[in-house]
Amino acid sequence: MKTPRLMMQYQQDLPADLLPLVEQVTDLATDLRWTWSHAGDVVWKAMDPQLWEQSENPFVVLQNLSYERLEKLNRSASFKQHLDLLSEARRHYCECPGWFGEAHAETRLKGIAYFSMEFGLGKALPLYAGGLGVLAGDYLKAASDLAVPVTAIGLLYQEGYFRQMLDGNGWQQEIYTYNDSNSLPLRPVLTRNGTWLCIPIELPGRTVRLHAWEAQVGRVNLYLLDSNNLLNSALDRGITGKLYGGGEEIRLVQEIVLGIGGWRLIEALGLEIDVCHLNEGHAAFVTLERARCYMEKKRVDFWEALWATRPGNVFTTHTPVAAGFDTFPRELLAKYGLVYAGNLGVAPEDLVALGRSNAKNGDEFFNMAYLAARTCGLMNGVSRLHGQVSRGIFQDLYPHWPQCQVPVSYVTNGVHVPSWDSPWADDIWTETCGKGRWLGSEETLAAAIEALDDTTLWTLCGQERADLVRHTRQRLRLQLGQGGAQLHLIDQVDRILDPNVLTLGFARRFTAYKRPNLLLRDSDRLIRLLTHSERPVQLVVAGKAHPADKEGKRFIQAWAQFAAQPAVRQHVVFLEDYDIALAQELVQGVDVWINTPRRPWEASGTSGMKVLVNGGLNLSELDGWWAEAYTPEVGWALGDGQEHTEPEWEGVEAEQLYRLLEEEIVPMFYDRDATGIPRAWVARMRASMAGLTPQFSSNRMVREYVEKLYLPAASAFQQRTAEGSEVAQALRLWDEQLRCNWHEIHWGNLSVSPEQGGWVFEVQIYLGEVVPDAVQIQLYADPDGMQAPVCEVMTRHASIPGALHGYLYRCQVRTARPYTDFTPRCVAFHPAALIPIENNLIHWWSGTANLLATSA
Ligand SMILES: *Cc1c(COP(=O)(O)O)cnc(C)c1O
Repeated sequence: MKTPRLMMQYQQDLPADLLPLVEQVTDLATDLRWTWSHAGDVVWKAMDPQLWEQSENPFVVLQNLSYERLEKLNRSASFKQHLDLLSEARRHYCECPGWFGEAHAETRLKGIAYFSMEFGLGKALPLYAGGLGVLAGDYLKAASDLAVPVTAIGLLYQEGYFRQMLDGNGWQQEIYTYNDSNSLPLRPVLTRNGTWLCIPIELPGRTVRLHAWEAQVGRVNLYLLDSNNLLNSALDRGITGKLYGGGEEIRLVQEIVLGIGGWRLIEALGLEIDVCHLNEGHAAFVTLERARCYMEKKRVDFWEALWATRPGNVFTTHTPVAAGFDTFPRELLAKYGLVYAGNLGVAPEDLVALGRSNAKNGDEFFNMAYLAARTCGLMNGVSRLHGQVSRGIFQDLYPHWPQCQVPVSYVTNGVHVPSWDSPWADDIWTETCGKGRWLGSEETLAAAIEALDDTTLWTLCGQERADLVRHTRQRLRLQLGQGGAQLHLIDQVDRILDPNVLTLGFARRFTAYKRPNLLLRDSDRLIRLLTHSERPVQLVVAGKAHPADKEGKRFIQAWAQFAAQPAVRQHVVFLEDYDIALAQELVQGVDVWINTPRRPWEASGTSGMKVLVNGGLNLSELDGWWAEAYTPEVGWALGDGQEHTEPEWEGVEAEQLYRLLEEEIVPMFYDRDATGIPRAWVARMRASMAGLTPQFSSNRMVREYVEKLYLPAASAFQQRTAEGSEVAQALRLWDEQLRCNWHEIHWGNLSVSPEQGGWVFEVQIYLGEVVPDAVQIQLYADPDGMQAPVCEVMTRHASIPGALHGYLYRCQVRTARPYTDFTPRCVAFHPAALIPIENNLIHWWSGTANLLATSA
């Protein structure tokens, strides 16, 4: 039972005839689909034009309406008709089978639970810090559009992430605004008899009781756990206080709440979930709690429960360096793990070992990503390059495995296009590609955009730039006023920026690896570029630094001080408080989006994808998504596609950045034909819009998650748990016996003979107590240049005469490579097991092969 909270507020004295209207409007205003679908804007505006303009938030409009106004609206037939149309459209959107229902009508996948520390859905629900949260928000919106059965779990932070202001010296100030849950578009999660649903979590010496809130994101429910209630101690009420704000201990407790509390909430709601998706390692405890619940229901022990549930867990890693993983010291784990290990019925040291690369190293920190890797069946990075980088970072968990076989695949991130397109771009895309263009597969879109003419595209660009200039001036007026600037400067705001000048955008977290000051390296050169008399350039910059990151704050200050110089004041603006709303204005209006991370530190990056739909072009380091998107037709690349650690390299890339701007980008933008159109520029816009927008959309991303990860994960999970979990039981036994007997395996001779364009390999192996079916003997060769690794299964050919458990394995490979490239190895094998993620045992043949003249 969910009582609309708004109604509770009005309930006592709300005239009965207003009730249906209030209920209907509440339904619409609490569905965050309004953050990307603008069909309702006219209705909200009609309710109160001023409130709407100020807030652009239907929930705020609704909460501030007077009875008189409500009564008036209730008497307006045309208003109610509009409202009915909107409700009808919403019902249709929520009930149609959608892409998932049509493409996977027969599937047995019933539910996916998506866990994330942050969700960025818009300024109406500020529960995010940056890219990770925005990605999660875009994912939910696309899951809703595609009708994928996702339920999301997060935390309701009382203060969220900080809001940014700069002081007179350009130094970042942090403001923590209070998220009053009554003014957020949420509903409380109540029990059948109308009381709060209460999720208990045992912590040392007490039980914390969590409440939950529900946000509606189209068809997707997002549940937010909240510790701030009077049943908890003062300390515990603060668990869900700030996002990334507290110390190590509170972070650990937040992660316990998200993972363990999150799964308990799913159980309490009775949701049927096959797949748990961990958006980053923060949520890794959920895999333990999922196993614990399974263990209780099926009366099995924890390890069998883990074998049963693991293939249903998917882990997405977002970190490009090992130092980025969340880790906790032993003392903290001892404190919190002890209670929980008791619940699981395992020894505390076995629990802690799941988060270490070396179980026996007592000094090793507990690593959430390792826990996730050990308790999930599938693991992926967020771009092609990041997949590769992650295979390096996770190598420690798969000792002696070739790096290319470390089990991390990739699904490149994407953005929810309808959330980032400008009204102008929306018009053009709707006209050429139709209204349903982001509701299914997007294969036909490129051709439609290819066909757009130059005038249309160039006009689009001008309209969007003019909007950005207008918005920037508005923001700047507020910013200067709040910051105590002199009045004459505030009065001159309308002279800042020019809607006809080439506009560059740079906005991101200010932190060393993003190199936000690469453009400032030679500030005189930048000034010359900006203030060129015929071909001027302008630049809008924004971004926050983590409160503890002094260096990041100095980068911001450098930009603020640069922008304050009279010589460039009209050409450069630093805008405070980078958030989704500001990002939308920027990505809709810039001509070129600049990104300068130090490769390979940008796991994916998504902000550059947001300019694609609007016709903006990217100038970016060949890192993250751009390393797989870039071709010379669609934008510009920095760097040489390699990693560099030498200090001079900064200078090399800064030089490259200036030259690209001076010699290519600026001339191309201002090279106009007789009709005033820069033809080469528009050709690039077209290629980028048509070629990249569909590919880097969250539609493509979510479809890929479904087809590459969720469907296999769900069927593996169902296979394991079918019929009294027979398969899980068998696997657990198989795994135990292998680990116990593995040391008995040893090799005999290897012989090789040439045969019709290749080799025949024969190897002897003694398996001891290990049954031959429990292993696979493979012949492996490392990747060679562009060629994939070779991995051939060798077949059991004969027993070695006179030997106990000794066998002869054989295989033939057709190859031009020398036989010395190939090495036999023995790995664990079971048709239902995921290798090597679930069992990393591997034993390589070593020695010298006998080369025979012909095969025996
Ligand atoms: C898209 C977005 C990000 C992520 O951008 P990066 O490319 O990772 O820098 C961060 N913050 C906001 C507000 C965004 O909209």
